[in-house]
Amino acid sequence: MDEIQKELLDIVTQVRTHLEYQKALGITVVESLAAPASVAAVGAAQVVIKPVKAAELAPLVPERKEIKMAVPSLRSLSGSLASVREELGECTRCKLSKGRNAIVFGEGSPEAKLVFIGEGPGKEEDQQGRPFVGAAGQLLTDIIVKGMQLKREDVYICNIVKCRPPENRNPEPDEIEACEPFLIKQLQAIRPQFIVALGNVAVKTLLKTKTGITSLRGTWQTYQGIPLMPTFHPAYLLRTPGDKKLVWEDIKKVMAEMEKIKKG
Ligand code: URA
Repeated sequence: MDEIQKELLDIVTQVRTHLEYQKALGITVVESLAAPASVAAVGAAQVVIKPVKAAELAPLVPERKEIKMAVPSLRSLSGSLASVREELGECTRCKLSKGRNAIVFGEGSPEAKLVFIGEGPGKEEDQQGRPFVGAAGQLLTDIIVKGMQLKREDVYICNIVKCRPPENRNPEPDEIEACEPFLIKQLQAIRPQFIVALGNVAVKTLLKTKTGITSLRGTWQTYQGIPLMPTFHPAYLLRTPGDKKLVWEDIKKVMAEMEKIKKG
């Protein structure tokens, strides 16, 4: 590959990285790329550059590795998950810290395209320090693994609050307020393409709405520019298994959008 080809490949790689980032934010229109054909001088030579459509960029970029190299610089704007965890420390910012066994920070891929957000740790989660590992967690895992055909470790799973509320009551406003900045930072570090909000507490907190999950489920919403799908909490499904089919409908909407992005 000569110097000109290398430079062109570099430009194409940068454009593609930018497009992927825009797409992750839900921006799919790329009119500005369909510019009139132009002649660009690269070094001493004259190279004709034809209008480029987003879909045509993919085959020009041989390795995904090259795209990934640019992504950390975007991510570094808001810090890494590790630095968020470090900042959280042995948190005593709210009264939930008094009764907890372990902080349940969240787990999964720091580069997850999909983030599930629940309400708060239950007994089992508090014991293990991991989100969604009890009965409701098993149901969520089934949705991810058996339903979506994904690995649990490829998505990211976390909660609105990171410490167990006593008797599994709903987290209170002051507890949510103390914990939310860390969730926001986690999402800024991960920059997922999609969020699934599980249940009333997650939906109302993220969307700052009083509208309940029954009205919102299955309808695309937006959180900080990220498409968000509200659906029922798995714990609710354990009590109301008849509504599992509704959750599956919601999840299929997420899968369809993920597939679209994958295909470009
Ligand atoms: N319910 C939640 O909302 N989160 C968990 O981690 C477990 C159960």
